[in-house]
Amino acid sequence: MKYIKYIALALFFACGMSSCSEDELDERSIFSAEAPQRNEFDKWLLNNYVYPYNIDFKYRMEDKESDHDYNLTPAQFDKSIAMAKLVKFLWIDSYTEIMGDREFICKYGPKMIHLIGSPAYDEGQITLGTAEGGLKVTLYNINAFDPSNPDIEFLNYWYFKTMHHEFAHILHQTIEFPREFYEISTGNYTGAGWVNISDTEALQRGFITNYASTEVHEDFVEIIANYITHDAAWWEAQRKVAGSAAAYIDAKLDIATTYMKETWNIDLQQLREIVQRRSSQAASLDLINLND
Ligand SMILES: [Zn+2]
Repeated sequence: MKYIKYIALALFFACGMSSCSEDELDERSIFSAEAPQRNEFDKWLLNNYVYPYNIDFKYRMEDKESDHDYNLTPAQFDKSIAMAKLVKFLWIDSYTEIMGDREFICKYGPKMIHLIGSPAYDEGQITLGTAEGGLKVTLYNINAFDPSNPDIEFLNYWYFKTMHHEFAHILHQTIEFPREFYEISTGNYTGAGWVNISDTEALQRGFITNYASTEVHEDFVEIIANYITHDAAWWEAQRKVAGSAAAYIDAKLDIATTYMKETWNIDLQQLREIVQRRSSQAASLDLINLND
């Protein structure tokens, strides 16, 4: 499992990195700058992402939307369809369900979700997801996902925890969380040194993951993303590992819960129940056909 952990380390490392350059397309580029002909999937995306949520779901490799520093592979067509259906069911529809309408995601959701088939390798590190200014979320390594066997732990670990992590950034960038949260772990943040501590050590220092120990905003979004994408048994197991430092994690969750309720009218516990229920249904979704 070392490989996975290493990738997870890299996953959040790139979070919040600056957006790609706006270079003009090279004339010899194999990537078309023309609007492509719409296929059935494009039409499905119009009806399920663009019209209802104003989200541009890009599965084609468009050079201008990809980071030039990486050597990237396009997402496979069938995997893109499956991922589009899963992102909608597990992420968008969870918020629409709890809010009662589409307005929240329309207003605060990213304006673009971009799929890349390969992981992004960069000097021995691997990036799985990036978010740029709350506008665009890129999910990498889509071709590693097997639509005929959608294991929810795998999906959460590689894709959906990232979505919730980045979306929580968008929320606190819109309205900042209370100062009390800053005070809980003041002086204990590790910055770039987070790569040197294990998740167990992080827990024993009052952080839900090692990446949460980098700085206060990552701490905040990791609390939310991990709470939503894991069940109560997992959370309790982390608290046990944390020992006496569980009090810090509890205090952080309390503030995050109050913030989500008072600022966004979202009951975090209820959101978790919705996400968990939907996660348990993911395996029985039709991830192939576009007739819904
Ligand atoms: Zn982050």
